[in-house]
Amino acid sequence: TPPAERYEYQAEVSRLMDLIVNSLYSNKEVFLRELISNASDALDKLRFLSVTQPDLLKGAVDLDIRIQTDKENGIVTITDTGIGMTQQELVDCLGTIAQSGTAKFLKALKDSKEVGGDNNLIGQFGVGFYSAFLVCDRVVVSTKSPKSDKQYVWEGEANASSYTIREETDPEKLLPRGTRLTLHLKRDDKGFAHPERIQKLVKNYSQFVSFPIYTWQEKGFTKEVEVDEDPAETKKDGQNEQSEKKKKTKTVVEKYWDWELTNETQPIWLRNPKEVTTEEYNEFYKKTFNEYLDPLASSHFTTEGEVEFRSILYVPAIAPMGKDDIVNPKTKNIRLYVKRVFISDDFDGELFPRYLSFVKGVVDSNDLPLNVSREILQESRIVRIMRKRLVRKAFDMILGISMSENKDDYDRFWENFGKHLKLGCIEDRENHKRIAPLLRFLSSQSVDELISLDEYVENMKPEQKDIYYMAADSVTSARNTPFLERLLEKDLEVLFLVDPIDEVAIQNLKAYKEKNFVDISKEDLDLGDKNEEKDKEIKQEFGQTCDWIKKHLGDKVASVQISNRLSSSPCVLVSGKFGWSANMERLMKAQTA
Ligand code: ADP
Ligand code: MG
Repeated sequence: TPPAERYEYQAEVSRLMDLIVNSLYSNKEVFLRELISNASDALDKLRFLSVTQPDLLKGAVDLDIRIQTDKENGIVTITDTGIGMTQQELVDCLGTIAQSGTAKFLKALKDSKEVGGDNNLIGQFGVGFYSAFLVCDRVVVSTKSPKSDKQYVWEGEANASSYTIREETDPEKLLPRGTRLTLHLKRDDKGFAHPERIQKLVKNYSQFVSFPIYTWQEKGFTKEVEVDEDPAETKKDGQNEQSEKKKKTKTVVEKYWDWELTNETQPIWLRNPKEVTTEEYNEFYKKTFNEYLDPLASSHFTTEGEVEFRSILYVPAIAPMGKDDIVNPKTKNIRLYVKRVFISDDFDGELFPRYLSFVKGVVDSNDLPLNVSREILQESRIVRIMRKRLVRKAFDMILGISMSENKDDYDRFWENFGKHLKLGCIEDRENHKRIAPLLRFLSSQSVDELISLDEYVENMKPEQKDIYYMAADSVTSARNTPFLERLLEKDLEVLFLVDPIDEVAIQNLKAYKEKNFVDISKEDLDLGDKNEEKDKEIKQEFGQTCDWIKKHLGDKVASVQISNRLSSSPCVLVSGKFGWSANMERLMKAQTA
């Protein structure tokens, strides 16, 4: 037989293993969730490919995961009939790690110290496999890919800088397809090799895996067996020797071992919403999307008619790390299934507009072909209809949060995802009427608490026609602007747009409930209180002063005019009617700097 070859781990892997072992020791049992999730991924991949290549299923039709324990020797084996790995894939997948992943993981670990919870980080950063070394001295991965006619064995030890790969030659150990992990537990962790312990962990961590997980369990049944009567006793009872010689029976327990189905495989979205508890929805969310906080809201629905699909959508409690890239298209936020087969979570706006990419969920359709490709997704009429419905449901869900009795919920939503909705004002004209009621701003009359546009409209003066706003870089500068003076005097409310994106968003909306948004810093602001007589008088009195100022400032200003917009300040610089506002100008400058 060919000898085992030794390979060095990529430096990042060694570092990562150190980290995992030293940082995540407090919740070792997550290793099982990670390894089961890898098995489930491998089965998903195989099932997906087998749609177009049914031959792949040859040799082992059943797609399942089997976990066996050996208490005496402290060994757990996890076997799946998934896609397996070729020799090269073993090197690529279990010996290297994308550097960016490590970097992100490191950062997240640091950040999590503040948030308080690092248990779910392993899975989020694609380092799941190495969590085996939380509990193992030695891990053996024997695997057979349909792409190769040979089966290979990867072997690694905790705290080692290298691993080996050899060909599997023991005919007893050959697999039809898939992967078997043999976990040699550390002395102190041998407790994981108890069948009841494993069963409990599987139930706890993998109730939403959509493939059957079997665990090897000891079973027993009782049976009545005939026993011979004790001859001594018969003698004592001498008299009725003949009639008493009845047959006696005894109950015994017969023990044997067998596979036991340990998880529930009916996907939660196929169940009747009335029968699913909030806890179940939340658990499903956390396990599917590697989240550690409950979602803010969820929505489970079925659509019928033209296109049929089932879906569960969620609004997360907080924005993902690296908040800046709010439109990161690669968020894997939507998991698409066709007839329960997982198809993809790698979308770029096909199923959800990018600005809503914070919404997470699963979508299962019977109307799409199983071999649906990117191109089909982009052109499909069905997908367009699905997208429309999903977006509506997402807005309904967000509106629900805004109407919740617990006001904190929406505050929290807005803090995390307000920017996304503002982006929606710019990108999604079609949904303006759904987005606008969800927007929140500070105002001249509410500098600490955000108000909605509805609240603004409610508070408008009877003769007031427009919605006034002032864009500035902070509430303080908005409050101190001279433009505000006359509006304050008249008790007119002014929205303070202090987030850089606010002004562009508002300009895209143009109006709300047929009331135009009006920038109070623009030249032609009309507060509906013109007094022509008085204007004439003032013009005569100050006309020359204006000319004099214009002469001295020259090209620095477009014109110098008399205005009735100020009450206590003597003068103010304003933007022309068709020019950029001062705020926009500041933004443009910042961008070109
Ligand atoms: P992730 O699952 O996030 O990709 P892991 O560290 O858990 O990261 O796994 C690394 C890779 O190893 C997987 O992406 C997959 O390609 C491969 N792998 C792990 N376990 C299995 C398995 N049971 N069957 C096939 N491939 C596997
Ligand atoms: Mg994994």
